[in-house]
Amino acid sequence: MSVEELKQTVSKLQERIAHLEKKTGIIPNVPKSIRAILIGPPGCGKGTQSENLKKQFCACHLSTGDMLRAQVAAKTELGIAAKKIMDQGGLVSDEIMVNMIKNELNNNKDCSKGFILDGFPRTIPQAEKLDDMLGENKKPLQSAIEFKIDDELLVARITGRLIHPSSGRSYHKIFSPPKKEMTDDITGEPLIQRSDDNEASLKKRLGTYHSMTEPIVGYYKKTGIWKGIDASQKPPKVWSDILKCLGQN
Ligand code: ADP
Repeated sequence: MSVEELKQTVSKLQERIAHLEKKTGIIPNVPKSIRAILIGPPGCGKGTQSENLKKQFCACHLSTGDMLRAQVAAKTELGIAAKKIMDQGGLVSDEIMVNMIKNELNNNKDCSKGFILDGFPRTIPQAEKLDDMLGENKKPLQSAIEFKIDDELLVARITGRLIHPSSGRSYHKIFSPPKKEMTDDITGEPLIQRSDDNEASLKKRLGTYHSMTEPIVGYYKKTGIWKGIDASQKPPKVWSDILKCLGQN
């Protein structure tokens, strides 16, 4: 084969790859592993996108809200104390939450391949402690993804939200209903409505989010790993935007 023929073959192959990437929605340059946190108000879609990220990267998804709800369901001492705080829209203490995450990151084997933190850090001291902890293992965070959305859009999302407790899968009574009423599509188990998913509690949770959690956006803008996405869009568009911003690493 002459050099000219070889060049033509390479060029055709490149065109074919670009065509397939476009057709399948695969975004090039997405990293192979992930160490990311998702920041956003209640109902912004962190849980849904965490599931996508978990599948894409074979990483573990650590949701501090789910961990606390498991403690509540098991009626542990921590669960009983946490339920009161959660229903009032407050935050569980930094010390408890930092220890909870530290324990998972050090002992959960799935986390060695990467992790997505959903609901942590929620305060500046939690963000600082997380950096210390990851710095000790020389595996710093790669991305802090902020889900940007107006408060007004969240009321409808939250008050119609249905949850499958053991998997954390979520549905919406109107926007994304289960196939059978109040039943998980995959396991056939019952769905629940979270006790804090009502308008009064949401108002308090949003207040807590803006005063205590939003400042961590500035923290990660300073460290240079912040990325923002428009979370008011439909889930598939949010997902492709997340892949795009990860590809920019
Ligand atoms: P949301 O739907 O508000 O994002 P989550 O499921 O992440 O809620 O968490 C539910 C509740 O658990 C929070 O409102 C808060 O009381 C408590 N919680 C979860 N993660 C943390 C954390 N990192 N620090 C303190 N409290 C937390």
